[in-house]
Amino acid sequence: MSLSYWEIKSWFTNIDVTIVGSGIVGLSCALHLKEQHPKAKILVLEKGMLPQGASTKNAGFACFGSLSEILEDLKSHAEQDVFNLVKKRVDGLQLLRETLGDQAINYKNYGGYELFLQEDDLLETCLSQKEYLNNLLQPLFKKEVFSTKPNSFHFKNIKETYIFNPFEGQIDTGSMMEALLQKVQSKGIKILNNIAVESFSEDNNSVKVKTSSHEFSTSKLCIATNGFASQLINEDVKPARAQVLITKPIKGLHIKGTFHLDKGYYYFRNIDNRILFGGGRNLDFKGETTTEFAQTELIQNTLENILKTVILPKIPFEIEHRWSGIMGLGNTKNTIVKPLGNNVYCGVKLGGMGIAIGSLVGQELAQLIA
Ligand SMILES: Cc1cc2nc3c(=O)[nH]c(=O)nc-3n(C[C@H](O)[C@H](O)[C@H](O)COP(=O)(O)OP(=O)(O)OC[C@H]3O[C@@H](n4cnc5c(N)ncnc54)[C@H](O)[C@@H]3O)c2cc1C
Repeated sequence: MSLSYWEIKSWFTNIDVTIVGSGIVGLSCALHLKEQHPKAKILVLEKGMLPQGASTKNAGFACFGSLSEILEDLKSHAEQDVFNLVKKRVDGLQLLRETLGDQAINYKNYGGYELFLQEDDLLETCLSQKEYLNNLLQPLFKKEVFSTKPNSFHFKNIKETYIFNPFEGQIDTGSMMEALLQKVQSKGIKILNNIAVESFSEDNNSVKVKTSSHEFSTSKLCIATNGFASQLINEDVKPARAQVLITKPIKGLHIKGTFHLDKGYYYFRNIDNRILFGGGRNLDFKGETTTEFAQTELIQNTLENILKTVILPKIPFEIEHRWSGIMGLGNTKNTIVKPLGNNVYCGVKLGGMGIAIGSLVGQELAQLIA
C-alpha cells in the first residue's frame, strides 16, 4: 500500500526524533525530549498493538533489590557500583512517581519480603551480612532497610524468618503504562502502533528508517527496544523471557506485599485479591533466552506447584490467566545508554528492575540528544 501525500506530509515529514519502542524507556525518553525541545516533532513507533515487551507484562514490583540479590551483585561488582545501582533504582522510582503521581500508578507501600527455602543456607548468609548492607545503604535511606520478621503469612516449606524491607512498594503496571501513554500523547507526541522498524542507515544529517510498511527519514533515531535490541543493533543485550500466572480472586486473601523467593528466581504479590506469581527462568535458561512470547509446561507446572505447597498451601485457588514478557539482560547489570553514530542512540538492557530505572534511562537517553 502506498501512503498518500497527506499521510506522508503530516506523519512522516520533518521528523526531529523517532523513537523505536513504546515501553517505559521509549515513552519516558519522548516526554523528556518534549520538555527540552517543546517544538520538536517526535514520533514513537511500536511494533505491537500495545507496548509489547516487558513494560505491560511485568509484576509491578517497585523494588530496588532484595538482600540476597544485592549480596550477589557485590560478588561481581565493586561496592560503589552496587551502591550506585541501588541509588539509580531508588531515584528512578521517585521520578516515575513524580511524573505520573501515586494515584495514577496505584502505588502501595506494603513493603517487600524475602523468603528462604528450607534446604537453603542463604538466610544465614543474609543475616550475617544484614548489618553491613544496612550500613552501606544508610546514606540513601537514612534508616535501616533490612530487618527480620516471623512467618506471619503462614507460608509452608520455607524458613520461619523473612527478611523485610519497608521501602519496597507495588504498582498497577497497566495503570502506569496507560497514564504514561496518555501523558505522552497529551504533549502532541505521535505514537504509531503495529509498525516494526526493520533496519536503519545513517546519512550525514539524517537517518533513513525502513519499517514493515514503508521508508522515511528522521533527524535523530533513538532505539528503546530492550530485549529485542539485537534485531537492530549489535550490543551486549540478550532476550530473557519471563513467565507469569495470576489466580482468580481469593476470598479473604491475607497476603499483602511483594515477595522474593529462592534468590529472586521467583516473585509474587497480591493484586485485586489475587496472587500474581512469576519466575522459574532458572529451570531452563537456554530455552528462555528468546523473544518468542509463550508459556512452557515445565515452568508453569513448577509455578503452580509452588503456589500449592508454599504460598497457598491450605487455600483453594484457581489459575485465571498466564502470560510471558521479554526482558533484556547482559553480562553486567549496567544499562546501555549511548550514541551509536552521529544521529542514532540507544537505551537498552534494563534487566529485571526496569520499572525502577526505566524513567531515568529514558531521561538519560533524551539527554544524549543535544
Ligand atoms: C514478567 C516480567 C516481570 C517483571 N517484573 C518487574 C518488576 O516487578 N519490577 C521491575 O522493576 N521490573 C520488572 N520487569 C522488568 C521491566 O518490566 C523491564 O525492565 C522494563 O519494562 C523494560 O522497559 P523498556 O521500555 O526498556 O522495554 P519494553 O517494555 O520491552 O519496550 C520495548 C518496546 O519495543 C518494541 N519493539 C521491539 N522491537 C521493535 C521494532 N523493531 N520496531 C518497533 N517496536 C519494537 C516492543 O514491542 C516493546 O513494546 C519485569 C519484566 C517481565 C518480563
